Amino acid sequence: MKQYDYIIVGAGLYGSVFAHEAAQQGKRCLVVEKRDHIGGNCYTRRMNDINVHWYGAHIFHTSDERVWQYMQQFCQFNHYVNSPIANYRGTLYNLPFNMNTFCKLWPDVITPDDARRRIAEQQAEYASIAEPRNLEEQGMKLGGRDIYERLVKGYSEKQWGMPATEIPAFVLRRLPLRFTFDNNYFNDPHQGIPIGGYTQIFERLLDGIEVRLGEDFLTKKEEYLAMADKVLYTGPLDAWFGYKLGKLEFRTVRFDHQLMEGVENFQGNAVFNYTDAAVPYTRIIEHKHFEFGKQPDTVVSYEYSEQWHEGSEPYYPINNDRNNALAEQYKALATEEKNVSFGGRLAEYKYYDMDKVVAEVLNHPWLNNK
Ligand code: FAD
Repeated sequence: MKQYDYIIVGAGLYGSVFAHEAAQQGKRCLVVEKRDHIGGNCYTRRMNDINVHWYGAHIFHTSDERVWQYMQQFCQFNHYVNSPIANYRGTLYNLPFNMNTFCKLWPDVITPDDARRRIAEQQAEYASIAEPRNLEEQGMKLGGRDIYERLVKGYSEKQWGMPATEIPAFVLRRLPLRFTFDNNYFNDPHQGIPIGGYTQIFERLLDGIEVRLGEDFLTKKEEYLAMADKVLYTGPLDAWFGYKLGKLEFRTVRFDHQLMEGVENFQGNAVFNYTDAAVPYTRIIEHKHFEFGKQPDTVVSYEYSEQWHEGSEPYYPINNDRNNALAEQYKALATEEKNVSFGGRLAEYKYYDMDKVVAEVLNHPWLNNK
């Protein structure tokens, strides 16, 4: 008999929920994590009593009742509602695009009908574009010139690191426009931030389970494979196969976390988007506002969107034709791996919100006798 039923590679949300559920079923689990902490990208670190979302702002939101109930075992969520603000050349606009945004963009717009008319007029300029060839054409067609130029263009160019005319149109499928005065970014009935941060969720999920931190599974792959019946792998898909078919591309984000001692309130809101291309960062996050903090100090994080390279963190898959085709080839290889399951945002090469990750794990065949 091998030492473990499961080795779980990665102590992020996917791996930790899986390990917890497997352990509940009496399985012997070992979690191997290459970072020096648990929690994956959801990890929060405490600085001057403020929970800092170390790998970017994480707001839990869901329409899935089962997932919402499940999470209550591990934390209590507060009543935070995500209402970002856009700063374009010193003028502030509410996001997502709603009546507050429209009234600020066009002071003569008072009613939803006024706003619809104004947007329709601007969209009409681009009605002749049947098949937008790039993000610029798509943005103009969907939102009209003012919304596109002030709130979409510069932000997207920074996110993708190229001019809007070179960004493929598919990255902007929809531009949700809301004709009510509603600044709530999400439509889900459940939303909040865990009071006390995310890391405690992982401490509870992994309570009583053996975890090895600072250990890259792939550098000792054969040794580990010999120790367990099955492996759940949540690391990068191409890395498992030694990149033998080529590398899957990502965008990464560089976070510049700054502790500001004696500054009680830097920007008055958790999330500020900077939508002008001339400002180098995409967002400034002020973490204390996620938990309505009253500390005498504050911590802000400047976010810079950058090209991913070996050694930086892979954040957002670039789902263009080349990468999607490559991912499919790797996924075909993955189906041939015996007793290995590939799960989570890196191993599936797709963007996953947290609630979708939890739902996926709870339905995992190995946890459901399949
Ligand atoms: P991860 O959290 O990345 O965990 C994978 C773990 O595997 C990592 O800890 C990694 O170090 C480890 N690992 C990889 N390779 C190896 C190896 N070879 N050996 C050992 N360990 C390894 N979702 C929301 O619902 N709301 C949000 O507001 C939100 N904001 C986000 C903001 C940003 C900037 C990003 C990037 C994502 C955001 N998400 C958000 C998505 C959320 O982060 C993911 O749903 C979640 O982290 C996915 O969990 P995971 O376990 O699949 O991946």
